[in-house]
Amino acid sequence: MLAVNEAFNEDETVSGSVSRFELYNECAYKYFLTYIMKLQEREKFELSSMDMGNFYHEAIQRYSDSLKSDGKKWKEVSLEEREAYIDTAINQTFESMSKVSTLEDSTQKYIVESMKDTLRHSVDIITTQVSRGEFEPSIFEEKIEAEIRNYDTNELVAYLKGKVDRIDLTDSDDMAVRIIDYKSSGHKLDLEECFYGLSMQLPIYMGVVLEKLKEKYPNATLHPSAMLYYEMANKFVERGDTLAGTNEERLKLSRMEGLLSSEKVDLEANDATVGLEDGQTKKSSIIPYGIKTDGEIDASTNAVSLESINTVLDYSRYYAAKTAQKIIDGDFNCSPAKFGKFDSCKYCSFKSICNFNENEEEFQARNLSSIGNKEAVIEMMKESLDSKE
Ligand code: SF4
Repeated sequence: MLAVNEAFNEDETVSGSVSRFELYNECAYKYFLTYIMKLQEREKFELSSMDMGNFYHEAIQRYSDSLKSDGKKWKEVSLEEREAYIDTAINQTFESMSKVSTLEDSTQKYIVESMKDTLRHSVDIITTQVSRGEFEPSIFEEKIEAEIRNYDTNELVAYLKGKVDRIDLTDSDDMAVRIIDYKSSGHKLDLEECFYGLSMQLPIYMGVVLEKLKEKYPNATLHPSAMLYYEMANKFVERGDTLAGTNEERLKLSRMEGLLSSEKVDLEANDATVGLEDGQTKKSSIIPYGIKTDGEIDASTNAVSLESINTVLDYSRYYAAKTAQKIIDGDFNCSPAKFGKFDSCKYCSFKSICNFNENEEEFQARNLSSIGNKEAVIEMMKESLDSKE
């Protein structure tokens, strides 16, 4: 019991990142083994995915900081200037990573070279994505701190901490806000996963970012425009008939995924190249947004109304409070979530410890059922918020 008590703050709240809470909702026992028993794999002296992630985050921040201090915007920098800024950002970032200078292994050195290529590719893609809309990358690696309160009693149950990788803003009075999280593998913002507490990070971050920006820009009518993931990867693309065609395919492979506001002004701010005018396209290469021949948004578009986005933000905070309460109550049952293709056990390194076996009576997975379309999920979120179940 000592280990469990040590995992809580003196005021009987819990602290941690939103991803910890998401992990709890995957499998409470996995959370227990990871954060309370603190079991972890032995660290090897090689570049881990965390090192690579840190490199990309820091290098992009350094790149953007240099542009800002020289009074330049992402979309205004020439190709030559961009190369020079990227080289400086890479060198400065590697200098701050002591592990890199001591790497002997040729495989590890090869990984370092591919990291540089991925960074160059990512800056190139992000620049094109930014050029297609009205957003400007404005804030990087913004610290997030959120007090999470019990929805019923208003009692403080958790302190959530984290960092938003990137905040993009439009330059209008009705300032639109877009937040972007960099991932090393493909991620989508699935509303059903939000409903089951498996994906709460972006909505919770967006809520906190809006509060912070309201203090910074008291005269702006701020609103959430998009919550997106960008995959930091340099994927192979087959050469097309033209260079422009190949570049467009490359852009599509790096499309940001997530949830958009369905307001026309927001969709245009994210990608102004979509439309029925000459020179426009019906399907965005940079975000999940397309239109039909009558100009209405198509079924592949992942967008909901602003009111619904606000429901998702409120619901995620409410669900985080529910999760924190279960942790405080010491509920660490071995009951992994299964949802469509999602299986908490699939890549879990604790299989040999928990011995979970679905065929044995004492073990039971939580088979989460599909709810249906986006509107149905939002309705269920509203009902939960109203009934506070
Ligand atoms: S293998 Fe499955 S049941 Fe066991 S700790 Fe991991 S997620 Fe939980």
